[in-house]
Amino acid sequence: MNSLLRDLVNLYAALTIEFPQLKAVTLAQWLLESGRATSALAQDHYNFGGIKWREEMQPYATKVSYDASDGRGDYCDFGNLEDFIRGYWFFIDRPPYAGWRSHTATGQEFIEFIGPIYAPAPSTPSYAQKVLNLLSEAAGLLDDAPLGDDASDGPVVVSPPAGTAKSGVIVLDPGHGGTANVGGSSANNATSFSGILEKQMTLDLARRVQQALGDLAAAGGHDLKVFLTRSSDVNIGIQARARTAKAKNADLFLSLHFNAFNGQSSGTEAFIRSRPRNVNYDADLQFATRVQSAVLRSLRTHRPATRDRGVKVDTTSGPGGLGVLNDPDLGNTEGDARCRACLVETEFIDVKEVDDLLNRNPAAPAVRRDLALAIATALIDAL
Ligand SMILES: [Zn+2]
Repeated sequence: MNSLLRDLVNLYAALTIEFPQLKAVTLAQWLLESGRATSALAQDHYNFGGIKWREEMQPYATKVSYDASDGRGDYCDFGNLEDFIRGYWFFIDRPPYAGWRSHTATGQEFIEFIGPIYAPAPSTPSYAQKVLNLLSEAAGLLDDAPLGDDASDGPVVVSPPAGTAKSGVIVLDPGHGGTANVGGSSANNATSFSGILEKQMTLDLARRVQQALGDLAAAGGHDLKVFLTRSSDVNIGIQARARTAKAKNADLFLSLHFNAFNGQSSGTEAFIRSRPRNVNYDADLQFATRVQSAVLRSLRTHRPATRDRGVKVDTTSGPGGLGVLNDPDLGNTEGDARCRACLVETEFIDVKEVDDLLNRNPAAPAVRRDLALAIATALIDAL
């Protein structure tokens, strides 16, 4: 690998992008377009995508005339690697690619959508197939890239399109905490295969979601107020957690948990309160579905075997039930049920593969960062 390619890979691995599941496929596309960073466009102009000049690329590039294989033309000269990465995603967000955001579930779906627009000339194999042939190589390069001690502070690269600015109040509830049971909240529930406590993981995830919400708000012009029910290793009763939502006049309340059972069961699930005890059941169901599928999709990017356990309705009654989702405490009444709420059980951390994924592998911080970004994106979409 030449040093330019290594620099590109290391930077891209460390950056946060809006669709982390598309990192490998876009890198594969750049490997193809730049001959693994050997083309003159890449070497002289940081243009790994063969991106043609367009006036609207001015924030990221200047115009350069260049003899490409398909004739002399005007191309983008990016000043540095980061401008290229940001510029690529900006390029894709232009009108010719309209609709790409509905084709982001997998790298294959993405490249099969944008490929015929990016490279209109028919070829055998197709352009998308040529990119897909490089997908595992690209994924391997990203997996091997050093992440530093923790790349969670990397900037969000892709900005949502203009005109979609949202505003709202979000309360994140990291489950458990402290050393004693408080008001129906246990100090800890699940313990990972290697001994890491759920209460620690919920707080880490909540902080990362908060960070990602800040990044997305800055990039997309959103006006968000984000609160945590706890920001240190203390326990709070379930009623007090829900009442944070009421006190802050929250639009969304998300309780974050990790599961454990028998070391075998695994998967992602979310819970809402059952209908007679839930004045905004339908809205909660829609919200929980959005969050659960975002978590599932993010985890599957890294571990395709992640099971979909769906959204479940809590049928427990009494203090053992999901009191943290209790409408009167959240501030919801029949007449004004503004706060949508759900609880997500991210994964079963007593399963070794899940513990490796989230805690033990070198890439675990990046997996948690992607997960947080997926949750943050779902929360903003829900507003
Ligand atoms: Zn829990």
